[in-house]
Amino acid sequence: MFCKVCRQFPEHSDKESSLVKGVTKNFKKEALKFHAKIVKHMLCVDRKKALDMADQTPLSKSFKKAEELNFPMYEALFNTAYYIAKENESFLKYPELLNLLEKNYVSVSENYRNDKAYKEFVFVVLKF
Ligand SMILES: [Zn+2]
Repeated sequence: MFCKVCRQFPEHSDKESSLVKGVTKNFKKEALKFHAKIVKHMLCVDRKKALDMADQTPLSKSFKKAEELNFPMYEALFNTAYYIAKENESFLKYPELLNLLEKNYVSVSENYRNDKAYKEFVFVVLKF
């Protein structure tokens, strides 16, 4: 057993706490009560609450929705850039391949139909 919140924020938690390290045997209910009152645990709980609240704002929800909607496009653009780089193909194939994506119902924003965008996608792909 371990404290999920403390493990989520290792920069704030007490790394020496048995509930951060994990308890496998001889677990006592009092240990939970004690842990709940430790300042570092409470700091982690506050941090989690702040993050959860940040996710609830209308702007945050809109960004999340936009990310979800655009995910297939970004995935396709990264895969396309990776393919061209891996196969040592000419960059001139990039616009053709984007047209192919459109034919396969992946909508590609005009913002990514240029050599600068291609270079950025390749640069990111090659980092991984
Ligand atoms: Zn904790």
